[in-house]
This record gives sequence, C-alpha cells and structure tokens, in this order.
Amino acid sequence: MPVETKTTCPYCGVGCGVIARVEETGAVSVRGDPDHPANFGRLCSKGSALAETIDLDGRLLTPHISGAPASWDAALDLVATTFADTIRQHGPDSVAFYVSGQLLTEDYYVANKLMKGFIGSANIDTNSRLCMSSSVAGHRRAFGSDTVPGTYADIELADLVVLTGSNLAWCHPVIYQRLATAKAARPQMKVVVIDPRRTATSDIADLHLSILPDGDTALFGGLLADLATRGMLDRAFVDDHTQGFDAALSHVADLGIADVAESTGLDAADIEAFYALFAASERVVTCYSQGVNQSSSGSDKVNAIINCHLATGRIGRPGMGPFSLTGQPNAMGGREVGGLANMLAAHMAIERAEDRDTVQRFWQSPVIADKQGLKAVDLFRAVADGRVKAIWIMATNPVVSMPEADLVRAALVSCPFVVVSDVMAETDTTAHAHVLLPSLGWGEKHGTVTNSERRISRQRAFLSAPGEAKADWWQMAEVARRMGFDTAFDFAGPAAVFAEHAALSAFENEGNRDFDIGAHADITVDTYDALAPFQWPQPAGTAPNAADSRFFADGRFYHPDGRARFVPVIPARDQRTTAAHPFALNTGRIRDQWHTMTRTGKTARLTAHFAEPFVEIHPDDAKALGLTPADLVVLESPQGRAVLRALVTPRQKPGHLFAPMHWNDQFASAARIDALVPGLVDPVSGQPASKHVAVAAAKL
Ligand code: SF4
Repeated sequence: MPVETKTTCPYCGVGCGVIARVEETGAVSVRGDPDHPANFGRLCSKGSALAETIDLDGRLLTPHISGAPASWDAALDLVATTFADTIRQHGPDSVAFYVSGQLLTEDYYVANKLMKGFIGSANIDTNSRLCMSSSVAGHRRAFGSDTVPGTYADIELADLVVLTGSNLAWCHPVIYQRLATAKAARPQMKVVVIDPRRTATSDIADLHLSILPDGDTALFGGLLADLATRGMLDRAFVDDHTQGFDAALSHVADLGIADVAESTGLDAADIEAFYALFAASERVVTCYSQGVNQSSSGSDKVNAIINCHLATGRIGRPGMGPFSLTGQPNAMGGREVGGLANMLAAHMAIERAEDRDTVQRFWQSPVIADKQGLKAVDLFRAVADGRVKAIWIMATNPVVSMPEADLVRAALVSCPFVVVSDVMAETDTTAHAHVLLPSLGWGEKHGTVTNSERRISRQRAFLSAPGEAKADWWQMAEVARRMGFDTAFDFAGPAAVFAEHAALSAFENEGNRDFDIGAHADITVDTYDALAPFQWPQPAGTAPNAADSRFFADGRFYHPDGRARFVPVIPARDQRTTAAHPFALNTGRIRDQWHTMTRTGKTARLTAHFAEPFVEIHPDDAKALGLTPADLVVLESPQGRAVLRALVTPRQKPGHLFAPMHWNDQFASAARIDALVPGLVDPVSGQPASKHVAVAAAKL
C-alpha cells in the first residue's frame, strides 16, 4: 500500500505543508497539504519538484577523517577531543559553530545549548545572520522582543500591502499566490512594490517605486513626517503604548518630498502617491525581506518601517502591521532557541544577567556565555587570523554563500580543525573539512520548523536513513557526551529535545517573554508524531489558537514598561560606487533555485529556468560596454571576481546590476557572486550589505 506522510517544505520561510507519498515501488511524489494553514494545498516550483531532489547521487553516506572513510566512533572521538583540547589550551572563544536556517529546531537547540551552556562561549552564529538579523534587531529595539506581530491572513485582509525589498513572487511564491488571489477577489486592494529593479512581483503592483539602494530609511522617514503633517497619527495609541515619538519625528520632520526624492531617486509624484495611499488606507501591511535586511543600515530601515506602523496604531489588528518575511525554512526556529551569537535561548537576552541566570539554572550547566559571540562575518575573520582554531559548520556552504567568500575559503584552508556536517559529499565547503559527518536530509529526519508567521510545523521522515547518515542533533549530543557533558545531552530522540525546548520557554516566564510554548513541555513521542501545525505562543494549559494569532492586540509590548519604542533613525544613503567600480550590484535569489543549488541543482526542471549564472544589465549600459545579449561579462570588486552571462533588460535601472547568489564552482567556474561582496555589515545587527555592492563590469 502507498504510504502518505505529512511534512513541511525545506526551502523558504513560507513553511508550506507537503504530503509525501511513497509507492510500494519506492517511487516518491509530493503535493501540497490542503489542511496546512500556510499554503492550503499550494506549492511553488521548488516545492513541487522536491521528489526529484531526494536521490542519493552525491550524498555523503559515511563519516570521513582527512578524506578517508572512518567509523562514527572515531570521527566523534576526534571532534570531541580536538574541541576539548583547543578549549583547554586557548579558552572557550577559540572554538565556534557556524550553523544554518536549514537545521531543524531540535538540531539548533542542542547546538546552542552545547556552545553557550557547556563550552561557555557564544561563538555560535548562523547563515540566518545573512538573512534576517536586521529584523531581529529592529524588533527587539521597537518591541523589546523578537516578535513578528501578524499572520499571513493579515496580508490577505489588508487594503494596502507594501512590499519593500521583497521579490515575493520568486522568493515567497505561495504568499504571493495568496496575495494575488486576495487582490483578484478584492480589486480595490492596492499593492505598492518598492524595489530598485522591476521584478516579477512588480507585475501585481499598482505602484512600483524604483528606489535607489538603501533609500528606504529616507522613504519611510519621510512617510512618518508626512503622516504627522497630514494629521494621520493615532495620538491615543502613541500616548498610551509607546515611547520616543517626539525624538523620532524630530529626526525626520524637516524631510520634504524633494529631500526624499533626492535620497531615493524617485519621482516626487510617485512619493506623494505612496504617502497618500498609506495615509488613506486603514489596513496596511508592510512586508519586507532581504532588500531591507541585507544593508549597512538594515536595522534602521526596519525601525523606520515599524515607526510608521506604531505612529498610526496599525499593529496588532487584522490586516495591519509590519511583517518580516524570513528567507529560510527555520530561521525563526533558530531565533527561538537562541541560535545567534547575540541571543540566548527562548528569546532571552545574553546581555541581561537575570536571563543568563534563568537559562543556566534551567540547563544546570557549568557555565553560561556572558557576552555576545562573533557574528558571521567577524567569525570567519577570526578563523582567518587564527583566533578561532576549531570550527564546526552544519548544513550550510559558507565558501559560496558568505560575503568575502574567497577570504572564507582561505580561512578554512588555514584553520587547524574544520568539521563539516552535510548531506552532500562534495561542496565548496566540504572540500576543506578535516572531519566530514554525514547528516540526514529532508524526508529522512524528524523535527520541527517555524515559518514566518510563527507557525511551528513538523518535518517527518518518510525515507529510511541512507548509509550511516545521522541527525545533526544526535551528532552534537554524542560529541557533548564525549566531552563529559553526558546527562545534559541524554536525549532519547527529537521529541525529548522539543519537550526540553518547550519547557525552557515556559521556565519562570510569567508573561514577561513573548516566546512561550509551555503547553508542549510534557509532549510524548506519540503526540510529537501527531503534532499539528500551531502558532506560538501556546502557554501551558492553553489549546492551540483556533484562529490566527496576533501579538500586541492589547497594546502591551515587552519592554519593562510595556511600551513600544520609536527608534530615531537618520536617513542616510552611502555613495558606494566609485570611478573604478561604477555599478551598484544587487544580489538575490531566482525563482527555481535554492541557496547554493546543492539540492535544486539536481533537477533539470528547475535548472531549465536559468541554466547559467547571469547578470541583469540595462540596455544602455550593455551598449556602452559593447555587450550583446548572452555575452560573457566579468564583474570585479576589490574582494573578488565573477564571470556571468549578460541578460540585457530594461527591468534593471541604468548603472545598476542584479546577479543571483546560487551558483558555485561546481556548477560554473568563477560564478560565486559572494566572492565580490565585501564584509560590510549593519553595525547594529551584523548583517552584511549584500544588496549594494560596487563593482566594475566589462565584456570578457
Ligand atoms: Fe516551499 Fe517556499 Fe515554495 Fe512553499 S513557497 S513550496 S515553502 S519553497
């Protein structure tokens, strides 16, 4: 008999429910889960092709030490003794974990517990740093917590949906489908797309604002000033539930339309049309994604957006609110367990002594990290200069995906001890591992993920474990036990890890922290197996939300006084291009590939969308460079070089380029676009500015 299993798509942060069907022959097919509240049966091209990516071609199936197959015992012993020796000789901050939004929450929880509570360092960072850490910083500054207020249903309920720095149609396709369906049913709904280039998402827009890179703080700062001038503020909400409005307004009060036009490169009439639409629409959702976050001013951009929603009281109510759309399938779950160098578990703060004490007492751990660890860019620089002497990389391919990717590769070459846990045997990163550990992939492992609307869903195994592959949480627990921390890591399975994570979220949480799933603290293996998707919070003694849940409906926020904070932001835009590097390069995703293509690159159907790495260039620029369509173009920055195929299109502004981030040296030589991206980061969040890179371009 065929067997059907409900699970979750492993790609983007929409978190779609998937039904995997395994025939008696072993053939696998997938379809959207009609009962999953994220997608109600829809899937995008990537999700629909999942069954084509689960073959064992290229899989890492056994541990390796120095390139030779080894037993699990030998590999785990070597990892444990080398990490322990390094810590003994050089201190806890001489080791690091670099993890991933691809990990399941249970994997993330064990990694964070081992590093922060038992090794005693906060040197655990994640590729989610590249994805949404500016949103985390913005949330925490405004709300006192890392809380996404709304739900996907709010996007459908809105009168105005503002999409800024988000190519929703390609990067969160099922939310785009939901939005397009809602707009078709209610044509009076307006959509504004703010993006330097004309994307597939712009096709649905009533207004497309082709903004200059990093113009968002000026645009939303000007919006705050405009709302004040129009008398469109919710004074009662501002007075009763917030702090800092006057200071925030004073920073932007003098911003006129002409100033905003100069900072953003937009027509004054378009700016006025956007401001008028925002002022006139009671139900407004502002969705933002990497175009906002991946910036040297990403946190300020986030707060400039949130300021406008707080000033109008458009938060916590149906069809309203700022909405961070996370890129990865489990960036949110990673945040919940504290899998970032500047967070503790359960949304507690590493800089607060009482939070550190709470976590340490719950874990009964010998130590607790008492300061922030190294964020991704700084972490690999510390590997490069020898401060970090042992690193364990899990479920990510930083030699392709990190900024200054050539430096990252050189750092790993020089690092005395590199451990990589991966599903694939040969990636740009596994090539530099001293120890390679084979991990379970999608369809082979059990755990949970959290999507962009705070919905926790199960991923379930429907395939047997291939070769000797093991779950990432198990690998870390085994290393922890070998380092002498046995009882604290004696987990019977992922259900036990999830139960401990849930119990910690409720530990001494008297409603003073947003993340609370205490209702699941006593979860059994059977109830874990049957767990239906639910939105957090779900404190002990409560049932899952019958309807979509929304934070801040009562106007209470998580700063100690219960008030939200306006964050004064100074609209500033760097002039990054120079005579030597005159083009502004924007990097991002394409519709049919995921990250560094180690999975989606396996299927011809997905690869057919774009077969080669390319760079979008305006016809005028192409002409000036002597390029005709499909010519090869060399892009160079001070950091590196890439060779790409010219895609000549008026969707791109003159002087601006776009290139996808996916290709690696396995699929095309010299196409790692992150080799060009400098390690320039937002000073608050540490998120790299991958959307605004100065490059030179020339015909090959
Ligand atoms: Fe998967 Fe995202 Fe596509 Fe949904 S929208 S099927 S989660 S890639």
